[in-house]
Amino acid sequence: MTTTTSSPNAAALTAALPELREAYAALQAKGLKLDLTRGKPSAEQLDLSNPMLALPGTRSRGESGTDVRNYGGLDGLPELRAIFAQLLDVPVDQLLAGGNASLTMMYDTVAWAMLFGFPESPAPWSREETVRWICAVPGYDRHFSVCEELGIEMITVPMTETGPDAQAVAELVADDPTIKGMWVVPTYANPDGSVVSDDVARALVEMPAAAPDFRILWDNAYALHHLTDVETPTAPVLRLAAEAGNPDRVVMYASTSKITWAGGGVSFLASSPANIAWYKKHLAKASIGPDKVNHLRHAMFFGSADGVREHMRKHREILAPKFRAVTSILAERLGKYGVGEWTDPRGGYFVSLDVVPGTAARVVGLAKEAGIALTPAGATFPYGNDPEDKNIRLAPSMPPLSEITEAMEGVATCVLLAAAEAFAG
Ligand code: PLP
Repeated sequence: MTTTTSSPNAAALTAALPELREAYAALQAKGLKLDLTRGKPSAEQLDLSNPMLALPGTRSRGESGTDVRNYGGLDGLPELRAIFAQLLDVPVDQLLAGGNASLTMMYDTVAWAMLFGFPESPAPWSREETVRWICAVPGYDRHFSVCEELGIEMITVPMTETGPDAQAVAELVADDPTIKGMWVVPTYANPDGSVVSDDVARALVEMPAAAPDFRILWDNAYALHHLTDVETPTAPVLRLAAEAGNPDRVVMYASTSKITWAGGGVSFLASSPANIAWYKKHLAKASIGPDKVNHLRHAMFFGSADGVREHMRKHREILAPKFRAVTSILAERLGKYGVGEWTDPRGGYFVSLDVVPGTAARVVGLAKEAGIALTPAGATFPYGNDPEDKNIRLAPSMPPLSEITEAMEGVATCVLLAAAEAFAG
């Protein structure tokens, strides 16, 4: 991740206030209807997987003869698991393939911990007076919603270019047994694009934790989603955890939501043998087996781990120009006044923009009034509360390039106008 830093030129901004007001009025007059809110794949990206619509064709059996149309096979289809075990760098017998949403697997993990506890939990978490959780900020709003829904109190730590601030995390978990876990998005994090270094991964799996059942929910949603030709590998966290003597600390998740289809993909969960046994014990009460027809369709479409990598390069060709448009418009328009800091991510789905503190909600409001929908200010913080009111998540994957350019020109006008208003008092 590269961050463009700057310091605002207050005098120039204040002087430009009338001109910016005019530019904003002209923007409103355009009657735009543009949306940069959610990180969804575009139709063009979804089309890349259209051959899957004709798969598995007349085939109804997996490689080992399993009839994929029938019940059973709780672990998921072996040939698809073999492909993703290689990509996620985990042993195949420690990897499950499930339905279309890894978020459901994360939710179930936390919900089952609340209901039943992990094998080494002193009690189900819901019987504890307080359960707390560490969230690096800015972060993924749906992670925060899982905690909020299940009554888990969230504590924030800063996000750095190499992942969550490991020292801050270690200090928090060392003597507080109410802290039961943390979210980590290790590769191209949502929204800041940071990548967890091997050192940070090692620190997180080695640190002593007061809670005997402390868990890291390692959400590798963007493991393969490179925007440049540098295909950054993810830290081999399960191996590091086992080496550190904490093999059960990490539960890893991934999915093909942004590889094939967000509404028709496959999710994955990998962890230690003990955690896999625990997860399957509870899953078996909720399901007789996953959608193996979809697993077979995916295995046939990709053929191999290299098939997936090749497919991701096609996504990159579609996505990279959109990200370039966002960062170049920010540099050109905001750079002139030294306003804002933003990421220039090497992968993932987002650009994280910090505007002048105290103006993020105003920027989002101005954009809305001009027909440009942005993710609500504060969404990247637990409880929707950005204490500095400065972070805005931009999601450029879905609209066509021409709309992104138009939307970002508009966003830049809103950022500058809000900054000028703030400086003019
Ligand atoms: N995890 C992160 C970090 C995400 O950004 C997203 C979607 O935006 C998801 C998980 C959702 O994953 P899935 O579609 O597999 O439920």
